[in-house]
Parts: sequence; structure tokens; C-alpha cells
Amino acid sequence: MQIATRTRTYDVCIVGSGAGGGMAAKVLAEAGAEVVLLEAGASWDVQKDGKMFAWNYDSPRRGAGHRGRPFGEFDGCIGGWDIEGEPYTVAEGEKFRWFRARMLGGRTNHWGRISLRFGPWDFKARSRDGLGDDWPISYDDVKPYYDKLDEMVGLFGTNEGLPNDPDGIFMPPPKPRCYELLVKKACDELGVRCIPSRMSMITKPLNGRAACHYCGQCGRGCSTHSNFSTPSVLLPPALKTGKLKIVTGAMAREVLTDAEGLATGVSYIDTATGGEETVRAKVVVLAASACESARLLLNSRSVRHPVGLANSSGTVGRYLTDTPGTSISGFVPALANGIPHNEDGIGGLHLYMPWWLDNRKLDFPRGYHFEFGGGRHMPGYGFLGGIHKLNGGGYGKALKDDYRKHYGGFVGFAARGEMIPNKDSWCEIDPEVVDRWGIPVLRFHWKWSDYETKQMRHAHVAAREIIEKMGGKVLTPMPTEEQGFGIQTGGEIIHEAGTTRMGDGPRTSVLNKYCQAHDAKNVFVVDAGPFVGNAHKNATWTILALSLRTGEYIAEERRKGNL
Ligand SMILES: Cc1cc2nc3c(=O)[nH]c(=O)nc-3n(C[C@H](O)[C@H](O)[C@H](O)COP(=O)(O)OP(=O)(O)OC[C@H]3O[C@@H](n4cnc5c(N)ncnc54)[C@H](O)[C@@H]3O)c2cc1C
Ligand code: SF4
Repeated sequence: MQIATRTRTYDVCIVGSGAGGGMAAKVLAEAGAEVVLLEAGASWDVQKDGKMFAWNYDSPRRGAGHRGRPFGEFDGCIGGWDIEGEPYTVAEGEKFRWFRARMLGGRTNHWGRISLRFGPWDFKARSRDGLGDDWPISYDDVKPYYDKLDEMVGLFGTNEGLPNDPDGIFMPPPKPRCYELLVKKACDELGVRCIPSRMSMITKPLNGRAACHYCGQCGRGCSTHSNFSTPSVLLPPALKTGKLKIVTGAMAREVLTDAEGLATGVSYIDTATGGEETVRAKVVVLAASACESARLLLNSRSVRHPVGLANSSGTVGRYLTDTPGTSISGFVPALANGIPHNEDGIGGLHLYMPWWLDNRKLDFPRGYHFEFGGGRHMPGYGFLGGIHKLNGGGYGKALKDDYRKHYGGFVGFAARGEMIPNKDSWCEIDPEVVDRWGIPVLRFHWKWSDYETKQMRHAHVAAREIIEKMGGKVLTPMPTEEQGFGIQTGGEIIHEAGTTRMGDGPRTSVLNKYCQAHDAKNVFVVDAGPFVGNAHKNATWTILALSLRTGEYIAEERRKGNL
């Protein structure tokens, strides 16, 4: 096969343009580095390509999702659980699902934008309860970067002074909607803390981006750039420097190294031609998402790195975690037959429930938070499916009346917990399967432990109490122990982390505290791979803060001549 080599040597090659890659590109280009960013997916311009204002009823599919858009026909994220020609495998008898985006900006084009900081206890959890491991950094090390991130990207929320859900630099939150006020009332009566959510939609103009106008369609992408995605917020200023070159349709195959074991660049497949190319760089930053970056390292074998690059500890692919999650829904008569009223807001929650209990008094470690939804969304395919369970079925006018009655009468709670890394959850290269580019694929191993399933049992009981306190009827049957108390399949909450974890030394970790490979000083990982723990606070705000920190570290090391 002919391999085309780009003659130029860049200062930095970044693989992946999602949260981690977008932030690294911005920081490094603004610091003066010549950066090339390889992205496997196609280019994406939300103003041209997004479908923010489309009506479901204008489409014969009525907005239904499909293989390449599982969250809906007009969703902002191209990718899915099942990408044609890019399989992965799962060990026999086990279950794991892997969601991947394939587009400029990666999953940041759809993510829920729940933007939570990890707290001081999360970075030192082992010291508190003896489980998992402590991070080699503390909250105080990351706080300045969370602060910068808040100001750079913008998010709303309120400062509450909670010990492990740190305050931030927030814009004012939107007002709660009717169903949210009813949930909060029930929570207040039950002693469940319910506070304004923390989300990266801006409620005031910021750096030329308009304030949110509350169309509620964040999942489709925002043509006014009022919510966070990499192409809306991070790539434009990076491109403005003239220092960033973006190569889309570039599926990285492996990191290339020299006789010393240091990275010299990246080889990739041009997905338009199927041809292989290489790009040279002095520093390689992997941001292809936690599992993809592990796959790249494991596929980068050489004499100096016989079991994969940065893998002398054997921990690449290990300590894989996701967020334990489960859902509980209910019908609340007080919300039924509602008169139309103003439900303006962001596409997501205005309130949420951070973990509110002292888990030392409970039968599981750590904790979870509740996200919840309800209200009158734009009807689409599958709208009010299963109504027969409430009204016994029907036809014609009576059925239409029942739809009107129930529209807006439901609330749904999603618990998001914390998994303790375990030895049975990891990924490796499948020795027998390659993708359509001939690149060996990942094989996953997965097991939840009692720690996580007990969190979910507690969440089911707590959500039931809230729904019943609202005078509602719980629609989700109480799951049994055999059903893992309703815990979703590993990977389904789409918060994979920990496959290239950071640590104090090369025997037990892949990276140092700056996300720099112990075994090759010019290789960095800036997605969720470096996470030592996966607190119940959704991962992305921490990915962004750590990538910002690593970007500044690389810039400083380059200035000192160390890279
Ligand atoms: C429906 C949904 C809701 C979510 N909600 C939230 C939320 O509310 N809060 C939260 O914190 N997180 C949420 N997440 C998770 C969030 O999207 C991810 O944590 C975040 O995007 C991860 O950033 P990343 O840079 O690691 O990876 P990604 O954003 O996935 O970006 C990786 C990029 O790398 C590219 N790539 C992969 N392999 C290669 C390769 N070999 N060569 C070149 N390019 C490659 C991909 O095409 C992709 O563009 C959600 C995700 C989804 C899908
Ligand atoms: S709700 Fe706001 S942030 Fe979301 S898509 Fe609409 S305008 Fe943009």
C-alpha cells in the first residue's frame, strides 16, 4: 500500500475534535503552536447543517431516530451505537454498549450539557472510604481551570456552598417550569435537595455569542451558538489564530514512534479514498474519547513499546468505568388536562437534585444525582406510546381527548451514580476483528458490582416517594435484584472513562498528573481516559478543565524547550 507522508512537521498533532480535542486545539493554537487536528468524521456547521427549527410533522419519519442518528432524525450528533464498518466486540456472556460520534465536534454536538465540577471528595475518594484510588491531583489543582472554563464557555447555575458540589462562576439560571416547581415542592417536603441545574447554555451574551432564546432544541445543535459545542465555541477562536489546520475524514490508525520510543506523528486513513497517510508532529495529543484513545495506544506497537504505546504498566484499557444509570417515570394528575402555559426554557433541565444524603449511613458507597424531565415537548414519532396502559386503549375522538389529557402529565427521573473501577471492566484489542479500514477493534469486558446496583435500588425508592408525594402514579415497575435494580447496560450512559488513567508512577498508571505518558514524554491524552474515578457528576466539564490544564502545560514545556 502506498503511504502518503505530509512533508511538514507540526508542533502538535491532536486526534479527535470533541470536548478534549477542541479545548487542546484552542489553548495550543492561541499559545502559538502549529497544530494539526485529525478528525475521523466529516465537517459540521450548525448554522448550515443543523435542524434546530424543523418541525417533526414536516418529515414522513416524524423525527424518528435511525442507526446514524439514534436520538432523533434532526439530532445534532452523527454517530451511534452501531456504526457501519466500525464494529467492536464484547466478551461472551457480557454486555456493553459503546456510543461514538463521527463528526467535527464529536459528542459535544448533542450532549445534555449538564456541566458539573467534580468535588474535593471525588479526587480523594479512596482516602475517605478505601475504595478505588485517589487521583494524583486534588480539587485545588483543578479549580483554577474550572474557573477559567466557566468564564470561557459560560454556564448557568447557583452557588449553594455545598461541600462536594463546588460553586462556580455562573450566569443566572432560567426560571423553573410548572412541573419542575411541583417536583421541587415534593422534594422540599421529603428533604431531597433540589436546586437550579448547572448547564452550559448561556443566559447572557458572551464573546459574540447570543444569549439563549429558549427554543428548547439544544439536542439539535444551536444556530445562535448559545450552548456549548466544540465547533460553536472552541474551534472558531483556534482557527482565527491561523495556526490550526483541521483534517476531517482522517481516521487515526496508530501513533508512530522513533527508536527512542518517542512519538513522531500519527498514521491515518483518509476515509474518502481509503488511502493511508502520515502526519509528523513533535507532540501527539490523543482526544479520540476514552476507549478510542486506548485503542490507538494499544494498536501503536513497536520494538520499544511491544504491548502498545504508554502501556509498560499494562493498564491501558483497564479501570474502564461508566455511570450507573436507571430511569423511573410517573403520571401526575395535577399536571394533566393542563391549560397551555409558558414552558420556555433550554433543551434540558432547569432544576436537579445533587446527592443529598450521608452515604456512610447507607449500604452503598458514594452517591448519585437525579436529573428529571417532563412538560410538553414537540410531539414526534412514538408520542405518548403505551397510552393504553393508562386508558385501557381507545379509538377516534375519545383517544384524541386522552392524548390531550395526558400530554404534559408525565415526569421522568434519571439517576446517575458512581461506579467504583473494578478488575472485570476493561477493554483490549480483539485479535480477530478489524474495522473497514483494517484497524483492529476493541473487545469489551464488563461487570457492575453491588456498589452500583444498590445505588440504583435506592434511586428507585427515592423517585417513587417523590412521584407519590406529587400525588402521581409510578409507571415503572420496581426492578428486582436479578434485574440489577434496573441498572442500565454498561456504556449506555455514555460516560466512559479511565482507560488511560493518571497516577504517580509508571507501574500502575499510564499518565502523570499532567496527562502526559510516563513512557513517552511527548504523548498526552485529554479525553476521559485519564480519570482515576468517575464521580456521579457527568464527565465533560472535567474533561474540558483537564484538557485546558494539559494544553497550558504543553505550551509551557514547549516554551522551556522540554518538548
Ligand atoms: C446523548 C448524550 C448526552 C450526554 N450528556 C452529557 C451531559 O449532560 N453532561 C456531560 O458531562 N456529558 C454528557 N455526555 C457525554 C459527552 O458527550 C462526552 O463526555 C464528551 O463529548 C467526551 O468528549 P471527548 O473529547 O472525550 O470525546 P468525543 O466528544 O466523543 O470526541 C471524540 C472525537 O474523536 C473522533 N475520533 C474517534 N476516533 C478517532 C480516530 N481514530 N481518528 C480520528 N478521530 C477520531 C470522533 O469522531 C469524535 O469526533 C453525553 C453524551 C451523549 C451522546
Ligand atoms: S434552547 Fe437556547 S441554547 Fe438551546 S438550542 Fe435553543 S437557543 Fe440554543
